[in-house]
Amino acid sequence: VKIAVLKETRANERRVALVPAVADKLIKLGCEIHMQSDAGAASRIPDSAYKNVTFAANPQGLVGDADIVVSVQPPAMDVVDAMKDGSVLLSFVYAHKEPELTKLLRDKKITCFAMELVPRISRAQAMDALSSQAALSGYYSALLGSTNLARILPMMTTAVGSIRPAKCLVMGLGVAGLQALATARRLGAMTEGYDVRPETKEQAESLGAKFVDTGVDARGEGGYARELTQEEKDKIAAVVTKHIQQADLIITTAAIPGRPSPKLISKAQVDGMKNGAVIVDLAAEGGGNCEYTKPGETVQVGQVTIVAPLNVPSLLAEHASELYAKNQFNLIELFVKDGAIALDWGDEIIAKTALTHGGDIKNEAAKKAVE
Ligand code: NAD
Repeated sequence: VKIAVLKETRANERRVALVPAVADKLIKLGCEIHMQSDAGAASRIPDSAYKNVTFAANPQGLVGDADIVVSVQPPAMDVVDAMKDGSVLLSFVYAHKEPELTKLLRDKKITCFAMELVPRISRAQAMDALSSQAALSGYYSALLGSTNLARILPMMTTAVGSIRPAKCLVMGLGVAGLQALATARRLGAMTEGYDVRPETKEQAESLGAKFVDTGVDARGEGGYARELTQEEKDKIAAVVTKHIQQADLIITTAAIPGRPSPKLISKAQVDGMKNGAVIVDLAAEGGGNCEYTKPGETVQVGQVTIVAPLNVPSLLAEHASELYAKNQFNLIELFVKDGAIALDWGDEIIAKTALTHGGDIKNEAAKKAVE
C-alpha cells in the first residue's frame, strides 16, 4: 500500500501528518511511504529524520500514484484532482466549509475519512484527533492567558507581603476546557469551570476546580451540547455574570457541532470585568464565544484584553503532529490488512468517519450542507 504524505500549504499551518516514529510503524504494517519534500520542516522535522521514505517536490506527482493520501488540512483542489480514482484520503475536512472540495472527492470516488468525524466512542479514542489537538489547545490557552496578564497566577509569599492567587474561569468543559482548568491550576490559579452539560461538574471538581452551577441542562446528541433558548441564556447570565466579573483570566472553549460558536460573554459583561483581566477565546475559529472577539486578533476593550488565536495546535506543531500522526496510524491500522486496503463497512468507526465513498457523500449532515 503506497501512502503519500503532503506538505501543508494553508496559512499558519505548521503541523505534518506523519512523524518519523509513526512512519516506521506504517512500514512495518507493509506500507511504502512517499513524502513531499520539507513536509515536516515547519514542525522542525527535517526530511533526513525519516528513514526508508522517499521524497518528491511535486504534490500532484506524489498523490497520482498513491493508494492513501494523508494530510492535516484538506488538500488543495488540484491535488485532489490528481489523486487516483477510488483512492483513500485522511485529513480534517469540515465539509460545510469546503463544499467544492467535498463534491470533487465525491466525483472522484475518493474514500475520504474526515478526521473531525471520528465517533466519540471509547474504541475510537486512539484515533480521535479532535481530542488530541483540543487537549494541546487547552494547555496552551492557560499559558497564553498568563502571559497576557500583568499579574501572576499563583499565590506568592515575598519579603514585602503575599500576593493572592489569580482567579481563572473556564467556560466550556470539553476536552480543551478541562485541560485548560488543569493547566491553570498547575500554574497556581484558583479555578472555576462552567458548562451546560451537568456531567462536567464532577470532571471539573476532580481537577480541583469549583463548578459554577447554573441549573441548565443542555445535553444534545452524541455527548455534545445543543443551542440554548433565550430563557436558558437569561438563567445562566444571572448566575455567571458575577463569576465573570470576579475573574482575572477567562478561557472560553464552547462549541456546538456545525453551528457558530455560542456567545457566552456579552459586551455588557466584558464592560463589567476587572481592570487588567484577560479573556482567551479558543472558539475563535467558529466566530468566538465573546461578543467583542475578533478571530485571529488580540483586542483591547477598555482595560480588558481579548486574545483569540486561530489554529492553536499548530503553535505546538511538534507535539500536535506527533499525536495527530498516531491518531491517523490507528485509523489506518483498522483497514490496511496483509498489505492491502480492506474496508469493513460494518465497523462503526469506518462507517461514521467516511465523508465520501464510491461516488456518494456518506455523512448526512455534510450531504445536506453540500448538495
Ligand atoms: P466541543 O468542542 O464540542 O465543545 C466544548 C464544550 O463547550 C463542550 O463541553 C460543550 O458542552 C460546551 N458548550 C457548548 N455550548 C455551551 C454554552 N452555551 N455554555 C457553556 N458551555 C457550552 O466539545 P469536545 O471537547 O469536542 O467534547 C464534546 C463531548 O465529547 C464531551 O461530552 C466529551 O466528553 C465527549 N468526548 C468523548 C470522547 C470519547 O468517548 N471517545 C472523546 C472526546 C470527547
